[in-house]
Amino acid sequence: MTHGHAASVARNQSLFREVNERIEKFAGGSPSPVGAEFLCECGRTSCLEAMPVEVAEYEAIRSSPRRFLVKPGHEQLEVERIVERGEAYLVVEKTDAGAEIAAELDPRSRVSGQV
Ligand SMILES: [Zn+2]
Repeated sequence: MTHGHAASVARNQSLFREVNERIEKFAGGSPSPVGAEFLCECGRTSCLEAMPVEVAEYEAIRSSPRRFLVKPGHEQLEVERIVERGEAYLVVEKTDAGAEIAAELDPRSRVSGQV
């Protein structure tokens, strides 16, 4: 693996994370406490899969800027490692160069005031 590859995967994953952030906000504002369908954050541009995850569970994943939600089988072990296995999803944590970029692009670590 090259750092370039790890970096581009992390950038793509960060884009999917931004979409999921919006899904979470929307789901969190709805009257029903059930889960929402979150997009797989594996970072493959061809992947548009979604999976049901409870908002509280997604929130727990998002407490780390290096963690992403992916479908089982979509993990890329050369740039990340599995830290948690849910019923329909995996939680992966970026390693090396990808971790830095993922942390840098975390919308929650940005200065507030940007929308
Ligand atoms: Zn995927």
